[in-house]
Amino acid sequence: MNHPVISLQSPHTFFIGGTWSKPHTERKLSVVSPVTEEEFMTVAEAGERDVDDAVAAARTAFDSGEWPRLGGAERGRVLLKIGAALQARLPELANAWTAQVGAPISLTKYAVGQAPMLFNYYGDLISSYRLIDERTRDDGRMARIVREPVGVVAAITPWNAPLVLLCYKVAAALAAGCTVVAKPSPETPIDAYLLAECMQAAGLPPGVFNVVPAGREVGDYLIRHPGVDKISFTGSTAAGKHIAGVAAQRLTRTSFELGGKSAAVVLPSANVEQMLQSVVPYSMPITGQVCFSLTRILVPRSREQEILDAYTSAVKQVRVGDPFDAATQMGPLAMDRQLQRVRGYIETGKREGARLVLGGGRPQGFSRGYFIEPTVFAGVDSRMTIAQEEIFGPVVSVIAYDTLDEAVDIANGTRYGLHGAVYTSDPEEGFAVARRIRSGSVTVNGLIVDPKMPFGGFKESGLGREGGIEGLDPYFELKTVYFA
Ligand code: NAD
Repeated sequence: MNHPVISLQSPHTFFIGGTWSKPHTERKLSVVSPVTEEEFMTVAEAGERDVDDAVAAARTAFDSGEWPRLGGAERGRVLLKIGAALQARLPELANAWTAQVGAPISLTKYAVGQAPMLFNYYGDLISSYRLIDERTRDDGRMARIVREPVGVVAAITPWNAPLVLLCYKVAAALAAGCTVVAKPSPETPIDAYLLAECMQAAGLPPGVFNVVPAGREVGDYLIRHPGVDKISFTGSTAAGKHIAGVAAQRLTRTSFELGGKSAAVVLPSANVEQMLQSVVPYSMPITGQVCFSLTRILVPRSREQEILDAYTSAVKQVRVGDPFDAATQMGPLAMDRQLQRVRGYIETGKREGARLVLGGGRPQGFSRGYFIEPTVFAGVDSRMTIAQEEIFGPVVSVIAYDTLDEAVDIANGTRYGLHGAVYTSDPEEGFAVARRIRSGSVTVNGLIVDPKMPFGGFKESGLGREGGIEGLDPYFELKTVYFA
């Protein structure tokens, strides 16, 4: 596999205070190809003193810089320039995603477009957003309610969709007038560097956006930093709970986008052919490493075999291969740790009595790389581990139900509540069932995640929303000003 060009201006520095600054240590992060298992790039790894510098730069930019004091329209103009800078580098951004994560280029070349879209969306939104409202008081006079930026935001992101997930946070935070310290995942730091280059090209003032790639220990130092006003976290529920505990000590503001175990509820009236068009790609997108994957397919018992046969024969057609091959639909898992994790869950599924009907091993013809076959279990009881825990791999459970109430109970029967889908011939019936599913979003007859709409979790899938107007508001504090 040849790696298409990804050229970073200064990978052995950090983007702090608007310049590429030298690290305090010689430590490096190794970026490994999931196809070759070999390192293809190194970048600087931040330590605590680098984080201190980044927070200090963000603090200065917030406390005495121009950014939070600009009008919405002025900030909006800069966001649109960042969007244009990202747009100009889309092929490289798609390559970076594919090279680090193994997500197929056939997907990343489109999905990466969400990055400029988010900056364009929040740029337009903030340009006309009402930052000051007037409201009538009890005594008949007026008070002003002002939206002020929260302050310095620590943006912590996972490795599976590194650029897009960072842009959800950063575009909204910058629109609100916050300044940002981004700590990308240590396995996928490249995108944050590319984003910083786009910020620089767009003329973002110094210190408004800073990048310190590091692992969880240094991340932990960042979330405890007294200079941080808000933590915006996307990652696992376990880390989210830990961060919530730390944040509670200082009442640091938080937003959490966490794990999922979403269900596709197939109602008896569903058209199976239509259902497969979205269930096949979205039960295992990016080799199942997407938080909203439809990893449980709930089918009426009377149609269990028919739907299982149709689904497994469609999944058998999924082309596994080199993610840079335009025909590939599924690449490898992103890293060895993921491969071990997914294999462990497959063994647990077998041990607990689920029936392995497809996959479960290394695909033929791949002697290296973190490849695993698309895997389907049938005869799954909703209480089994594979039906309860987030596997984060291409492992799907098909679960039979007898009544609609039972289907809803199964769909709601995990600690998660991120997404879901209902398949039916009657969209209003789908809406009624969607209302009963305790998750942050549900698609009737498909799977749609639109950055202009709020996205986030019920229960242990998160706290707060990203995307849409609802994704902007958490970056504001509200101040009421009375006139006596
Ligand atoms: P992770 O929780 O291990 O790490 C996520 C990020 O948090 C990384 O940058 C990591 O270095 C950092 N981190 C971990 N512990 C920390 C700590 N104590 N203090 C500060 N930073 C810390 O998750 P991951 O394996 O990188 O990503 C996979 C998880 O992310 C899955 O659970 C997936 O569902 C979730 N996810 C959720 C969404 C969403 O929008 N809800 C989107 C994508 C991924």
